[in-house]
Order: sequence, then structure tokens, then C-alpha cells
Amino acid sequence: MAIREIILEGDPTLLKKSRPVKRFNDRLATLVDDMIETMCDSDGVGLAAPQVGVLRRLFVMDIGDEDDAIVFVNPEIIHKEGLQRGVEGCLSLPGLVGVVSRPLSVTVRAQDVEGDYFEKTFTGLSARCICHETDHLDGILYRRRSETVLCTREEFEEEEQRKRAERERAAQQDDSVKDDVTSPDDGTAILERETDEKGHHGVPENEVST
Ligand SMILES: [Zn+2]
Repeated sequence: MAIREIILEGDPTLLKKSRPVKRFNDRLATLVDDMIETMCDSDGVGLAAPQVGVLRRLFVMDIGDEDDAIVFVNPEIIHKEGLQRGVEGCLSLPGLVGVVSRPLSVTVRAQDVEGDYFEKTFTGLSARCICHETDHLDGILYRRRSETVLCTREEFEEEEQRKRAERERAAQQDDSVKDDVTSPDDGTAILERETDEKGHHGVPENEVST
């Protein structure tokens, strides 16, 4: 096993569509082993082949539960259900986070490293990760899906705190002075788009770097 170099945003490889895996041989097994080691070494929960420069349709996932890493070769999401909003990160965009809406659960049909087909339904963080990784196979980075401008985790926390304080202040205002409530627009509202059309401010529950 070996740790491979993770390609960063800016490299055109990440924007290309990957081709199906056709040969289930030792070379594939080595690639999968290396990808798992590289993912663990980087504290990621998922890693797609294009991120290590291989334009083939496969990714690995280990969300840190009791299960081992799962390998998805030629994955296809055959069913999606529900909606979750949460914070995402990506090993190819280190240090950044954004808020992305994904299905709450997905059913995937894929092959394992030996070529055997399996079909399984995943929810929560796994579903988020699978969507993020299959996007990689289609040359899509989560920056394109993010509802917020990507920023550092620290900036994100600061902004969350600022919005929380603002909400508390607004809640304390008397109805009669409602008209005086202003939203300061000083250019620091980097996460403004996080507010959805219902006016809810999502407090993301989990974070993935994949
Ligand atoms: Zn990623």
C-alpha cells in the first residue's frame, strides 16, 4: 500500500468525466488499497479515483463507523429520497467548507473490487458522501453545489455565531420597533445564501471531507 498524491482544485483532471472500470485485476486492487490508505491518512471519509489522478469510476468511503471502508466500482445512484442540508469539505479543496443540500438517503448499485454487484441503501453522512464522490466521477466539484461561498471552517463558525447573535437580538426586539431592525450589510456576510427561502438558517450537523 502507498499513499498517493491528492490532486487539488485547479487541476483540469478534476473536471473530467471518468470512464467505467472494465478490468478487475491486481492493478485495481492496488489502486483501491492505496486510495483507502490515502483517505485515512488525510482524515477524509471518502476519496474518488480522479482525486488521485485516475479517471476511472470508483471511490472508497469510510465514515468512521464500525464498518470497514467500502469500495464502490462503477457506482450508480438508482434511488434518492429526502433532503439534508449540511457542511461539506473536500480533500481536493483543503481547508474549505460550504453548505450543500443532498438527498437524505440514496440506493446505490455498484461493483466491489472483485467485480461482484451489490445494491445497498445509505442514509445521512454516507448518503452525502456517496453523492459527493459520484459527482467527482462526473467531474463535478462541490463548489458548484454549495449554497454558500466556500470559506474556512473558522470563518464559517464566526459567521454562524454572528447570525445566531443577530437572531437573538431580533427576537428581543419589541414588535413596535420592528421597522427599525436593519441587517447590516458590511460585506462580511459570506454565508448569506445559506438562508433558504423559508428563512431558516441551517445549522449543519455534520461535516465531511471527501
Ligand atoms: Zn471531494
